[in-house]
Amino acid sequence: MARTGLVLWFEEADWKDKKLLGGKGASLAQMTQIGLPVPPGFIITTEACRKFYSSRKAEMDELERQLKGNPPPAVRDEIIKRIWALIDQCDLPAGLMEDVREHMQELERRTGKRFGSAEGIPLLVSVRSGAALSMPGMMDTVLNLGLNDNSVQALAKATNNEWFAYDAYRRFIQMFARIVLALDEKPFNEAFDRKSEQFAREAETTYKDELEAIRKLYPEYTPRLDAQPPKDIAPRLWARSLELIKELVGEYKDLVRKMWGEFPQDPYVQLELAIRAVFRSWMNPRAIFYRIANNITPDMADCTAVNVVTMVFGNMGWDSGTGVYFTRDQSTGEDRPYGEFLPNAQGEDVVAGIRTPLGLDELKKRMPEVYNQLIEAGKKLEQVNKDVMDIEFTVERGKLYFLQNRPAKMTPLARVRSAVEMVKEGLLTKEEALLKVDPEQVRRLLYPTIDPKVKATPIAKGLPASPGAASGQVVFNPDDAVEWAKQGKKVILVRVETKPDDVHGFYAAQGVLTSRGGMTSHAAIVARAIGKPAVVGAEAIKIDYESKTFTVNGVTVKEGDWITIDGNSGSVYLGELPTVTPELGGWLDELLRWADEERRLGVRANADVPEDAMMAKKFGAEGIGLLRIERMFRKPERLEALRRVILSADDKEREAHMKELADMIKPDFKEMLDIMDGKPVVIRLIDPPLHEFLPSSEELLAQIYDLREQRERAQASGDAAKVKELDQKIAELQDLYNRVKVLQEANPMMGHRGVRVGVTYPVIYYYLTRAMAEAAAELIKEGKHPVLEIMVPQVSDVNEIRFVKNNAILPALSDVEKEYGVKLNVKIGTMIETVRAALTASEIAKEVDFFSFGTNDLTQATFSFSRDDVENKFMNQYLEKGILANDPFDTVDVKGVGRLVEIATKEGKEANPKLEVGVCGEHGGDPASINFFHGAGVDYVSASPFRVPVARLAAAQAAIKEKLGIKGAVGE
Ligand code: PEP
Ligand code: MG
Repeated sequence: MARTGLVLWFEEADWKDKKLLGGKGASLAQMTQIGLPVPPGFIITTEACRKFYSSRKAEMDELERQLKGNPPPAVRDEIIKRIWALIDQCDLPAGLMEDVREHMQELERRTGKRFGSAEGIPLLVSVRSGAALSMPGMMDTVLNLGLNDNSVQALAKATNNEWFAYDAYRRFIQMFARIVLALDEKPFNEAFDRKSEQFAREAETTYKDELEAIRKLYPEYTPRLDAQPPKDIAPRLWARSLELIKELVGEYKDLVRKMWGEFPQDPYVQLELAIRAVFRSWMNPRAIFYRIANNITPDMADCTAVNVVTMVFGNMGWDSGTGVYFTRDQSTGEDRPYGEFLPNAQGEDVVAGIRTPLGLDELKKRMPEVYNQLIEAGKKLEQVNKDVMDIEFTVERGKLYFLQNRPAKMTPLARVRSAVEMVKEGLLTKEEALLKVDPEQVRRLLYPTIDPKVKATPIAKGLPASPGAASGQVVFNPDDAVEWAKQGKKVILVRVETKPDDVHGFYAAQGVLTSRGGMTSHAAIVARAIGKPAVVGAEAIKIDYESKTFTVNGVTVKEGDWITIDGNSGSVYLGELPTVTPELGGWLDELLRWADEERRLGVRANADVPEDAMMAKKFGAEGIGLLRIERMFRKPERLEALRRVILSADDKEREAHMKELADMIKPDFKEMLDIMDGKPVVIRLIDPPLHEFLPSSEELLAQIYDLREQRERAQASGDAAKVKELDQKIAELQDLYNRVKVLQEANPMMGHRGVRVGVTYPVIYYYLTRAMAEAAAELIKEGKHPVLEIMVPQVSDVNEIRFVKNNAILPALSDVEKEYGVKLNVKIGTMIETVRAALTASEIAKEVDFFSFGTNDLTQATFSFSRDDVENKFMNQYLEKGILANDPFDTVDVKGVGRLVEIATKEGKEANPKLEVGVCGEHGGDPASINFFHGAGVDYVSASPFRVPVARLAAAQAAIKEKLGIKGAVGE
C-alpha cells in the first residue's frame, strides 16, 4: 500500500495521541482496541489537515487575529469570506486521496460491502470532524456518504426497505449541499416542510384508519416525513410516504443543480469534497469563535482530524435508535446512568433537539440486553479513562454500536462530586481527583441561588440545564446580547433553540433561556461548558422574534424587560430577584480538605469588614493577608475626623484629631482580630493619596459660587446678618479650597501616599498603630488570642521602614504594652510593590518580619501601565494583537513582575531566614499565578473571600504538579 502515514486504521492508531488523532478519532481507536463494537473505519490525522492549510497558513493566521478583535458583523463576514477564498486555494496533501482510496477498498473487503455500487450491500460512511479538544457542534460532519442513484437501490435491496434507503439518500443530499457545497439550506427545508405537511394532512384524512392503528402500538408516533411508518400496520401510508420522499429526492437534486451543478454521483468525488469540507470546518466562524472564547491555542488543538466510519443506522425501524449516555449524572454527579434515547432516529435528531428523546430507563424496558451492554461498556470506559464519560451510541436492528466517547462536560457540582466518589471507588488517587477539578469551577460552585426567603411564583418552568441563578434584561438575538453587554447591561439571551452560531451571545449573557430542547441540546451543553446558568425547553414560552417579545400564560415579556432564571430548578421569574450564596459543603469540603493536605502555600483572605472576614473563615482562610483600613473611613463622622487630621495647621492639632479618629476605628480592629482569633490579621497602615479623602476642588468651587450668589441676594435685600454669616462660610470654604489645591498632585498614585505619609506625619502612623495595638491588648486581657501583623505600604527604601518603625510603630507598641501591661508580639512587615523595594529586598528584609507582594502596584510600576486606566484604554487591543498573552493585572507577568517576585523572595529570605513572604495583590486568587508563586518560594497567597477555595485547590494543584513533574506554570 502507498501509505502516507496520514491515514490510520482504528486498530492501529495510538489512542493516547489525541493531538494527532483528534478526540473522536482517539476514542474510536480506543473503543475498537478494548473490544467494544465500533463500526469499522479509519482516521485521517490532524497532521493531514495542517498540511492542507500549510500553503496559506500565514495569511489565515492574520485574518483569524482580526476576528479576535470581535469586529462588527459586516466586517466579520467579509473576513470569513476571505478565509474561505483562501481555503479554496488549499490542496489536499500529496498522495492522501490515493491512500484514502486504498483504505476504502480495504474497508470494502473487511465489511463485504461495496462503495457506490448498484450491486451487493452498499458501503456508506460518515465523514466526521474531531479536534484534540472537544468543540461540541462547532465543526462539520457528513453522514451517509456513498449514496447515489445506484447505491440507493442496492441499499433498498440489502435492507429490504426502500423507504429507509430513499430517506437516507434525501438526508445525504441535503447535508452534502449544506456542509460540503455550502449551499443555502432554506430552500431544502422549505421543500421538506411542504412535503411533510402534505404527508401529515393525507395521513390524518386519506389514511386515518392506518394512522389510528399505528398509534395504538406507538403512541408517540406523529406523521412526519422523516419517521418511517410501520409497514406491516400501515402499508398504504408507508407506500405514500415513500413516494413523497422519492419526489423530494428529485427536488433536492434539482436544487443542487440550480445552485451548484450536477450532484456528484462518483462516491470518491463525494469523499474528496467531504474531506476538504471537514478540514475547512476547522476555520468556520463558530469554530474560530469557540477557540477564541475558550483560549484554545495551537499547542492544545491544531486542526481537525477526519474520521471515516462505516455507517450504522438508528433509523432502520423501531428496533433501532440512537442516543447519548453519560456514565454519571452530569448535573449532580450522582453515580447513576444518565442519558437519552431516540428510537428510529439518526444521531443528528438528538443533537438538534427536534424530537423529544426518551430516558434511558425506557431503553432498559424496550431493549434490556442493549441497555446492559451499554452500562457495562460505560464502566469499562470509566476505568480506562479515569473519568465520567459521555458516550454516543446507535442501535441498528437490535445491535449496539459505539460511535464516540469523551470525558463528560459536567456542572461544577458534578465534577467535584464524581471526582471525590471516584477516589472512594478506587478509580482515582486523591492527587488525580484534585487535578481533575478546574479551580474556576469551584468558584462557580459558589454561584448564587435565588434567596429561598423570596416568595416568587415562576412564570414558566423548563429543564435545569446549567446551575446558578441570573437576572438580566431580555434579548432575543446573540448579536444584540453582545451589543448590550458592551454597554454594560446584564442580559438574558432568550431563544427558541440555540445553534453553534449563537455561542458569542452565550458569553455576553448572564444566562440563557430556550423554549425547546433537552438536557443534551446545544444550549444546555454549551452553557454548562462555559458555566452560564441556563434553563432550556421551557415549552410554555412562545417566542416571537419579529416583535421581540415572548408570551407565557397570558404574560408578555418585551425585549429589555428584566427576568431571573434559576438554572438549579429550571424556573423562570419576572423581574430581578435577590440571590444568596451557598455554603461549602459535602463533596467540595472533602476535596478541599485533601487539597489542604497537599498544598505548601498558605491561603489567607483580603478582607476589610466583618462580613468578609466571616465569609473568608468559612471558606477556609488561614488568616487575613490584607486589611485595607481605608474602608473604615467611609462613615461620615470618621471621614470628617480624617479630614480634620489632614487639614490640621500644626502637629499639635493633628495629634488631637488623630487621637479622636483612632478611638473611632479601634472597635473595628478589635472585631476583625476577634473574628480571626488565633489566626494572623495583617492590617495595613493608610495607603491612598491623602487628597482622596478630601472633597474635590471642583466641588468646592461650585459651593463657593453658590454661596456668593446667596450673598449677593442677601445684600440686595439688605440682610446684613446673613451677609456676615455667608462671608464667613465663604472664607472657610476658600481656605479649604486653597489647601485642597496645595495637596493636589499631578500624579497622585506616585505621590504623597503610603509610607510617605508616615514619614511626613509620623503621628498618623503612631495613632493608627496604637488603635490596632490597643484592640489587641484588650482582647488579650479578655483571654483571646489576637495575632496582629502591621504592614507598611509603598516602601521603596529601607530607611523609610526604619524611620516609621522608630518614630511611630515601635513607640506606639511599647506605649500600649506599658499602659495595658501585656506583651503584644506584633510582627512588622512591608508591602513589596515598588520596583526598588523588590530590588533592595535584602536590605529591607533585615528590618521586617514579613514581605507581602502588592502585585497590583508592582505590575503598574513594572510596566508603567496605570492600573486604573489600561483596561478601558488599550489592554484589549494589546491582547487582540497578541502583544501580551494575558492581561498582566489578571495573571502575573512571569517575565517581568514574576522575576522581581523571585529576586525579592530569594534575596529577602537569604538576608533574613525567618522572613515570611506573601502575595496580597489580585493575583493571589488567580490559579495560574498561584502556580507561579508556588514555584517562586512564596509562603502564602491572600485572595478575596470567594477566591479562597479556588486558591486552596490551585495551591494543591501546583504542589502536585511539581511532585509529578507536570508542567503548567504560566510562561512555560
Ligand atoms: C497591591 O498593590 O497589589 C495591593 C494589594 O494594594 P492595593 O491594591 O490596595 O494598592
Ligand atoms: Mg498597592
